[in-house]
Amino acid sequence: MPADLVVRGGRVVTHTGEFRGGLAVSGGRIAAVGADDQLPRGAREIDLEGRVLLPGVVDPHCHLGVDYDYDSDMRTETAAAARGGVTTVLLYARNPKPGYVDFYRERRARGEAQSMIDFGFHFGIQRPEHIAEIPEIAEVTGVQSFKCHMGYEPGNPIGINSSPDDWVFGAMRAAAKLPRGVVSVHCENTALAGMLKDEMKATGRTDLAAYTESRPPFVEETAIHAVIRLAELTGCPLYIVHTSVAAGPGIAAAARARGVDVTVETCPHYLTRTGYDEDLDATAKISPPLRDAGQRAGLWKALLAGQIGTIGTDHVPFRKNGGDVWAEKPGVVSFAWELPLMLHHAVHERGLPLSELVRMNSYTPARQFGLYPKKGALQVGSDADFVVVDLDEEREVRHDGNGTCLWEGWKLRGWPVMTFARGRQVFDGTVDESEHGNGRCVTVPDSQR
Ligand SMILES: [Zn+2]
Repeated sequence: MPADLVVRGGRVVTHTGEFRGGLAVSGGRIAAVGADDQLPRGAREIDLEGRVLLPGVVDPHCHLGVDYDYDSDMRTETAAAARGGVTTVLLYARNPKPGYVDFYRERRARGEAQSMIDFGFHFGIQRPEHIAEIPEIAEVTGVQSFKCHMGYEPGNPIGINSSPDDWVFGAMRAAAKLPRGVVSVHCENTALAGMLKDEMKATGRTDLAAYTESRPPFVEETAIHAVIRLAELTGCPLYIVHTSVAAGPGIAAAARARGVDVTVETCPHYLTRTGYDEDLDATAKISPPLRDAGQRAGLWKALLAGQIGTIGTDHVPFRKNGGDVWAEKPGVVSFAWELPLMLHHAVHERGLPLSELVRMNSYTPARQFGLYPKKGALQVGSDADFVVVDLDEEREVRHDGNGTCLWEGWKLRGWPVMTFARGRQVFDGTVDESEHGNGRCVTVPDSQR
């Protein structure tokens, strides 16, 4: 019997290396992988003509349904992700009320009705009751990843409750007991950020650099040190989201060397932008802030030294108010350009091996959040999630969706040309709109795994 789909003639890249050949898909899973002459015949065959085939991007960090309606975000933003070669997105979701089990059921069902790619959840600790719920959430929903926020002062523009130390410690102590438990932390010392913000506001400055300077690198570094110590004490795997400071990856590497399970994520905006770029205004507010060229260079150095675990977009569509930086909502969108940005700036400009990009974009995020080898791998039995990339295609970034894009008009080299999600072609130069509603939730109870 022929496979449903066979792609051949490609340069296939995994997190460990690469080979010439392709893969076969049956029933949405990878049925064979290898050199062309080892692959079966397919009902549909695609000749890649030497182009690059990568595991689909697993974006571990986004926020959907925060400002725009959740259903509409799950529709428009997963389509943007499909364009960017992303086949799984993990949402950092927040419920202001107690009761994550009901929240999960509702968000999962509404997401599965709209999404064209697979998605899953991390849940934000927003009140002490959420910590007490952790064992029940894990058992009933399968979500074992929790996030503690920091750096958001009371009255912040997006209504986030920052975690004091006892919440972080309590969440870690509970998550450490779970088989796939992990705690993510937004590392910025809340008290320092509040104090320095008030001082900067008092100067009357409202520019983007004032926001950057109001949250200097040590505000993030001290928080990184503190949460690593708590992870060490509790034995809880720690995932440091959106690291923006050059020293962060090295601090984490030193902790790993003494046995702490800590993984560092950074974002494309910290690698490509600064708070001093003249074309940016208050709408480029992000938390933590865009930093300066020296910090950016230090992050690249850490990335090329292998100290970055994952790249997350922190994609969040916001309606920006376009005015005062202090009242502005922090966050930008980049689902569609993370892969092109990394192909251009990391692979072409800095010589990063493609296998290293696959490690950060697919393998480590899948492994960190309990999805490997179903996701993040090109192995027999894995979900047939993959992206075909034309390394030499040059194109300008064009954004016509919701949220703020920091790269409008940038000419990038290296773009996705086809995206397959569990064997379904969701992108072939244009997104297949009939695929909405075919995505599935991947954070599920053990009985459904
Ligand atoms: Zn985020």
